[in-house]
Amino acid sequence: MTEAKKAGGSAYTYVDHTFDVVVVGAGGAGLRATLGMAEQGLKTACITKVFPTRSHTVAAQGGIAASLQNMGPDSWQWHMYDTVKGSDWLGDVDAMEYMVREAPAAVYELEHYGVPFSRTEQGKIYQRPFGGHMMNFGDGPPVQRTCAAADRTGHAILHTLYGQSLKHNAQFFIEYFALDLIMEPDGRCTGVVAWNLDDGTIHRFSAKMVVLATGGYGRAYFSATSAHTCTGDGGGMVARAGLPLQDMEFVQFHPTGIYGAGCLITEGARGEGGYLVNSEGERFMERYAPSAKDLASRDVVSRCMTMEIREGRGVGKNKDHIFLHLDHLDPAVLAERLPGISESAKIFAGVDVTREPIPVLPTVHYNMGGIPTNYWGEVLNPTADDPDRVLPGLMAVGEAGCASVHGANRLGSNSLIDLVVFGRAAAIRAGQVVDREAPAPAINTAAVDKIMDRFDRLRHANGGSPTATLRDKMQRAMQEDAAVFRTQESLEQGCKRISEIWGELKDLRVSDRSMIWNSDLVETLELENLMANAIATVHGAEARKESRGAHAREDFSSRDDANWRKHTLAHVAPDGKVTLSYRPVHTETMLPVAEGGIDPAKIAPKARVY
Ligand SMILES: Cc1cc2nc3c(=O)[nH]c(=O)nc-3n(C[C@H](O)[C@H](O)[C@H](O)COP(=O)(O)OP(=O)(O)OC[C@H]3O[C@@H](n4cnc5c(N)ncnc54)[C@H](O)[C@@H]3O)c2cc1C
Repeated sequence: MTEAKKAGGSAYTYVDHTFDVVVVGAGGAGLRATLGMAEQGLKTACITKVFPTRSHTVAAQGGIAASLQNMGPDSWQWHMYDTVKGSDWLGDVDAMEYMVREAPAAVYELEHYGVPFSRTEQGKIYQRPFGGHMMNFGDGPPVQRTCAAADRTGHAILHTLYGQSLKHNAQFFIEYFALDLIMEPDGRCTGVVAWNLDDGTIHRFSAKMVVLATGGYGRAYFSATSAHTCTGDGGGMVARAGLPLQDMEFVQFHPTGIYGAGCLITEGARGEGGYLVNSEGERFMERYAPSAKDLASRDVVSRCMTMEIREGRGVGKNKDHIFLHLDHLDPAVLAERLPGISESAKIFAGVDVTREPIPVLPTVHYNMGGIPTNYWGEVLNPTADDPDRVLPGLMAVGEAGCASVHGANRLGSNSLIDLVVFGRAAAIRAGQVVDREAPAPAINTAAVDKIMDRFDRLRHANGGSPTATLRDKMQRAMQEDAAVFRTQESLEQGCKRISEIWGELKDLRVSDRSMIWNSDLVETLELENLMANAIATVHGAEARKESRGAHAREDFSSRDDANWRKHTLAHVAPDGKVTLSYRPVHTETMLPVAEGGIDPAKIAPKARVY
């Protein structure tokens, strides 16, 4: 333990650690990476601001996609086609191919680790239909591809992975808040600084590899299905390190958040036969998506619901939401396959799903954008000459990362599989590139001083704007101006409003100065992180003059592959200035056709209809 230099007037006690690998985050992605790293014999730490099994992954309901063929024909090639189409041709083809080919083995691995999947009569893993997952390269009916443990799949996976991680020799730092990355002048990442919320000590971790698995930033919006802890901390750290964020304009709205409460009703409810109706009692999705109907992809269903409401066919007193019917389903099926959402509907909407419809509304749910990586999880710091340049010492996996397997729109049940496939891939890669014999990097004290100066500035912030006030302003601006439908006017206004709030961060007020369980300061650190994500989102959206996936512009209503089939990169400067550049989409497949690979012609861009 060392006594720190005085940062901004305060003295901090430092505790130093050296590891081969430090994983930040203990959701599905962080735990799978941690477990894999330890398995490779790397000395591994996992830092998490909440207890591992409280990570947002625990809330995942519907399931995890893999072409197991337990309930009818399927193939990784069909899964790949659906994922490419779902991404609206913005995903990186190599990463998508890697994910869908690895998916069945990854699910069997989870089964062997002990995930209690629901079962078919033959004892195989139960699989349900999910939005955008179809048979026969999109030409057939919905395929049963989503492996489920009732409607608590994330819960089952997270608890199992935590148990497995404990079996290995990884060291957990629980309820530690990672503040920032330790970056070297030559651009490498050599560690991370974290604050122990429980005793107020500051921990300096030296690491040969840091893995960000910090999850999404749903809480940049007013109404989101994500946990309050989903504050894009990894994105904030990366932006402060001078690195870009990718494709942030693509924010997924889930069609069925409970009206008013925002909590999620899984797409699995429609997978089991649920359907949406408007105020005229019409199953309107049949009109918009004649084949897939209620199981069209999420961006499509969310837009159709919004159009119905706008055209006066919303339900309820204010005609401002839609009904989801499950009351025609067998109560025994509801009890067995959808017990969790039956309970949520009762608690949050006062509805008995066996008798009444659930009031629902599109609600922010997932961030397709994030920290750019290759399919090994290595973080990219692209240049014009080398758009795939790897940044040494840093990886990102899970919702925090952008590999990019979801492109402009993620298919339901493709996130859980992303977590485990790329958590594992990152571990395999780290096993190859981390030199176990090399000495640990020395702590760069100048970099740590800078991190602690920022921490101290926020801890003692004495302005006139409480964190909660600025957060509320940000959430409302994002909700109103970067919504399901967007226009030049709304997005320009969004940029202006978020920039103004950025300016107001100088006037923050933190009331609690203590170092122990200071939730006021935690929320302030989170607000700064959210703001970096939010400002990249609105600027990327304003610049992108087309509609693709979740980014639906009323003034540029079609997709423009000639000009816009490319990834947005956003650098966010300390003063809130956003600089945009672009990098090409990877379009090459990996496995040759002669060896069973997908025919590139199959996945060439075309109109996206369901
Ligand atoms: C309600 C809901 C239902 C969903 N259902 C499904 C589904 O059925 N199928 C599917 O495929 N996807 C689903 N998703 C999406 C999927 O669950 C998420 O994308 C995924 O769980 C994210 O996992 P993650 O490991 O990246 O991050 P998370 O699970 O969000 O974990 C983030 C971790 O990072 C840690 N962390 C963050 N910041 C810091 C910091 N500063 N310092 C230290 N630690 C930090 C946290 O403590 C936490 O451990 C759902 C999402 C929601 C919100």
